[in-house]
Amino acid sequence: MSGLKVLSVASEIFPLVKTGGLADVAGALPGALKREGILVRTLVPAYPAVKAKLAEVSTIGEYSDLFGGPARVLAGAAAGLDLFALDAPHLYDRPGNPYLRPDGLDWTDNARRFAALARVGADIGLGAIGPFRPEVVHAHDWQAALAPAYLHFASALRPATVITIHNLAFQGHFPLSTFWELGLPERALTIDGVEYFGGVGYLKAGLRLADGITTVSPTYAREITTPEFGMALDGLLRSRASTLHGILNGIDDVVWNPAADPAVPQNYSALRIDMRARNKTALQNKLGLTPSPDRPLFAVVSRLSHQKGLDLMLSAMPQFVAKGGQFGLLGSGERTLEEGFADAAANRADSIGCVFGYDERLAHLFQAGADFVVVPSRFEPCGLTQLCALRYGATPIVSRVGGLADTVIDANEAATAAGVATGVQFSPTSVEALSSAFDRAFELFHNKESMRRVRLNGMRADVSWRGPARRYAALYRSLAGAAR
Ligand code: ADP
Repeated sequence: MSGLKVLSVASEIFPLVKTGGLADVAGALPGALKREGILVRTLVPAYPAVKAKLAEVSTIGEYSDLFGGPARVLAGAAAGLDLFALDAPHLYDRPGNPYLRPDGLDWTDNARRFAALARVGADIGLGAIGPFRPEVVHAHDWQAALAPAYLHFASALRPATVITIHNLAFQGHFPLSTFWELGLPERALTIDGVEYFGGVGYLKAGLRLADGITTVSPTYAREITTPEFGMALDGLLRSRASTLHGILNGIDDVVWNPAADPAVPQNYSALRIDMRARNKTALQNKLGLTPSPDRPLFAVVSRLSHQKGLDLMLSAMPQFVAKGGQFGLLGSGERTLEEGFADAAANRADSIGCVFGYDERLAHLFQAGADFVVVPSRFEPCGLTQLCALRYGATPIVSRVGGLADTVIDANEAATAAGVATGVQFSPTSVEALSSAFDRAFELFHNKESMRRVRLNGMRADVSWRGPARRYAALYRSLAGAAR
């Protein structure tokens, strides 16, 4: 089957609106799938940041009352993406973060805002709006997760549905009263529909009712079927294990290309890996650290949240700083973590430097200049930071969970002897295990030949979207081909 059409439904998309990895995936997959003969259009809310960039706009559908106000569906292009933008000013005409008010709390009408997105996704899926009639509707995370539910309960012939879990921690769980606004039939309010612990569960509904479920790494796909990682949905996920697929994320290898990266002072490739040294000096200077080629420079580029395990990093840091290591942080998030890192930097300004904030450009210098990039997550669906690190020859040190386990090959004896190691893994996610990972990293760093080999292996690993896109294409084709 060629020319398969897919509607992707997402609440954020890079480079227009991004709070996390979901935006990267929604932004990158359409381009990668085009090469597989799959035509993707993406439905996103017309936030101000989307509307400002949308070109060649036409109105393809209108609602007189969509969850409390009029709405239009716009078709257009932005940043090389074919988009449908849901222009519902009463829901989306708000600046800043797509989910949070300026005071950091959730918008109180998020249940309505993202039911509307899913509803319109389902309507496009049914061919009710405009000429684009997809064979597959692909919903991302809880914000789009009602789309498979609307389609499941629609009477018309419907497209196949896929839901992707980017992070099971966010589930869209709302009070029961929400149900009566959704416009779903009463029979949807059961444990086999949208009902969830006495309320309405958007992600739960999608996981129950979509034809296919994916998440962003094979290990995370297994982990979420266990009580430890399943966040109360493990039972449901176990019951759907035969349709649960782990497909790794990739990174955009044009945006992340050390040989032609405008954001770093010195471009380099695997053949000229020694040229990285200049970037290390630049990063040390940027962080106010003593510039030294002989001290291993560890870096973190991350949201500062409990998930990311950075409290462990704070505990392990004094030990490796005492051994001569340096540390740089680029991140923002929880105040207590920011304070912890700021205090550590104030005490050891020669060895610890922090930049608080979100800075896409600076992230490139971190990857190009650090010796090691540390990702000590408690759970990690896929993780993109370690993929960027591999491509940039910064050796990842990662906890052995989720996508971190699937994308980094630990420099143990067997992998080292076989010449395939790309980084250092540790388990469990504890201060002790992280500290011994740092010990191993020091050893590696001081063994120049092994270090070089591990760096080169990382740079040669395929972290592009090509492999993942093939797997999504195969899944879409198998689901679209099935009778329903
Ligand atoms: P998550 O989506 O859970 O935050 P991922 O690793 O999947 O984590 O994706 C986050 C992406 O955002 C990565 O590419 C990471 O490098 C980047 N990132 C995180 N924090 C920052 C920051 N403060 N500045 C720049 N880039 C960041």
